[in-house]
Order: sequence, then structure tokens, then C-alpha cells
Amino acid sequence: MQKIILTGDRPTGKLHIGHYVGSLKSRLKLQEAGNYDEFFIMIADAQALTDNADNPMKIRSNILNVAMDYLAVGIDPKKVHIFIQSEVSELTELTFYYSNLVTVARLQRNPTVKQEIKLRDFNESIPVGFFNYPISQAADITAFKANIIPVGDDQLPMIEQTREIVRSFNRIYGDTLVEPKELLPDNKACLRLPGIDGNAKMSKSLGNCIYLTDSKEELKQKVFRMYTDPLHIKVEDKGHIEGNTVFTYLDAFSSEADFAKFYPEFKNLEELKKAYQHGGIGDMKLKKFLFEILNQILEPIRQRRKYYENHLEEVYEILKEGTKYAEQIAAKTLEEVKNNMKLNYFKNKQLLEEYQEKFN
Ligand code: ATP
Ligand code: MG
Repeated sequence: MQKIILTGDRPTGKLHIGHYVGSLKSRLKLQEAGNYDEFFIMIADAQALTDNADNPMKIRSNILNVAMDYLAVGIDPKKVHIFIQSEVSELTELTFYYSNLVTVARLQRNPTVKQEIKLRDFNESIPVGFFNYPISQAADITAFKANIIPVGDDQLPMIEQTREIVRSFNRIYGDTLVEPKELLPDNKACLRLPGIDGNAKMSKSLGNCIYLTDSKEELKQKVFRMYTDPLHIKVEDKGHIEGNTVFTYLDAFSSEADFAKFYPEFKNLEELKKAYQHGGIGDMKLKKFLFEILNQILEPIRQRRKYYENHLEEVYEILKEGTKYAEQIAAKTLEEVKNNMKLNYFKNKQLLEEYQEKFN
């Protein structure tokens, strides 16, 4: 079976370090391993409009930003097709047909959608498009017959919904679509990185992010503002690890090499955790360490990003090329889908012949 990877991000802002550990890092690993047939990354502008309909400029002004973030972390357009969702109109058409295979009750049960509705204070005024976005995500995935989806764990209900649609479609219309499987980060702290405010998820919509483009100074300020252990007041107090955001970040980002370089008093995170719980380690010291680690990751990303900011036309052409390619693939799948749904009246004269047989 072919290995086809698809993943994407909403252009609702610049990308943050939650994206980095949750998804971008696995994308880079996959890209470098090279063990795949096709690799697509989608900028999900149509999906972003489902909860930003009144603010199209927000989406438009983030298209190149997200593309530059990809290129800055090291996504290579020679190995990966980066494309813009709304420019592939086949995806909308697939969404329309798939929506017949999903019940309203099923969408209402989707835990991620439920949580996001709460977060956005939609109450009873949920836009139909937003409610429907798990179906549109199924279209995005299946249009490319993607079977490997590197995501954070907030996306699991979407992948499950896609598998259900694939199974229903294939049962009714014959074998056409491919069931996808998620690829989650193995490090548990990376599944859903919390925000700097300690909120369960770092998210553009919550404004609790460290962005890949943050300057050294911004990064320092954010790290030093981070939520730690409210009971740890004096240095000698016993500290708590559970729910302490700085430790979650250290779980996600630190390595033994970082200890050797920036905090040689300890060999690894286990030792540091023990010492903190015992008392005698100040939060400032921890934050300084975390800052050094994050800054070391972000510095080369900032440098590469600067290059693309000075070569915007290159970025623009990469998107144009990637989108053109993606459109061809999606068109092929849509043709198969419609054929199998018997929606192909003018492809040949078969429809006419069917009637002629009946009436002549
Ligand atoms: P929005 O608030 O607009 O929904 P977001 O910050 O949630 O934005 P998305 O574009 O929805 O970002 O997510 C893109 C990808 O990044 C998804 O695969 C998602 O699982 C992953 N991701 C987003 N936030 C995190 C996080 N805090 N930890 C781990 N993965 C994340
Ligand atoms: Mg999101």
C-alpha cells in the first residue's frame, strides 16, 4: 500500500511551539526519513473561516506567515507539497457528498468540536460550517487518499470521524477511499502542550502561545511569566511537578545534552525533578534553563524565517506550485467518487443508452 501523508494548520495566526512538538517535529522526521510516496501539507483557510467568517483579512494575512513558518522549521518544498485549501474546490464538493453519510447526533458527540464550541462562546449560535468541519476534514484527508496523519491528540476525534465516513462510503458505493491513521508524538508532554498560562492547550485562539517567530526578548518575557507551582513561594519550599507548566515544557523539550550545556549541576530531568520536589531550587533558575533550551531551538528557525521574509516571491511560488499539484490529485479522487456514486452523466453516453434500452 502507498504511504501518503497529509496534515495541516489553520492560518489563524503564526505557528507556535505547541505546533512544533505536536506536529511539525514529526513532519520533519517523516520528511528526513523519506519513506513515503506523497507528502502534503495544507493551509486550512476554508476551515479557518468557519469560525472567522467576519474577519477574512485575518485569514488572508496569515497565509504566507504559516507557509514561512513551515519553511523556517525546515519543511522542504522539493519533498512536500504545500497547498491552500480553498484553491482546491474539489474538497468542498467532497464535503457536500460526505455530509449525507454523517448524522447531526454524531457531530454533536465529537468531543473536540464540543470543547471548541464552548471555548468560542457560540452557545446556540454555532455556524453550520463550523459544526460541519469534521466532515470537511474527512474530505481533505481522503481527497489525497492519505493514510498517515501526524497530529496532536486534539485531532483524534476528527481522524475517527474520517474513518467512519470512509467505511460508510466504501460499503455503499464500493471500495474507493482509504482509511487514515493518526501519527501521535511518542513523548506524552507533546500530545497537547499547555499554554504559558497553564491552560490545558496552547492555542492561537487562547492567546497563550510562544510563537516560533518570537524574538529572544519576547521569549524571555513569556518564559519568566509562566505558570509554575503556586505553593512554591520560597526557594527552600518543597515544589510540585504535577500541573507545573515549566516541568511539562522541560518534559517536552529538554535533553541530557541541554543539562550538560546549560545546567551541569544535574545530569538529567529526573534528577532535577527530585531536587525540586525536595526543596531548594528556585523557579527563576528553572525558567532560565527552559529559556536557554527554547532559545536554542528557535534561533535557527528565526534565521531561516528572515531569509524567506526577504524572498516572499519564492514563498508565493512554492504555494502556487504545491496547490496546482494538489488540485490534480484531488480532481482524480473526486472523479472516482462521483463515478462510484453514479454521478457521471456526460462522461460517456451510458445514461442515454440505459434510457434507450428501456424505451425502445
Ligand atoms: P486555533 O486556535 O485557531 O484552532 P491551534 O493553535 O489549535 O489554532 P491548529 O491549526 O488548530 O492550531 O492545529 C494544527 C495542528 O497542530 C494540529 O495537528 C494540532 O493537533 C496541533 N496542535 C495545535 N496546538 C497544539 C498543542 N498545544 N500541542 C500539541 N499539538 C498542537
Ligand atoms: Mg485548533
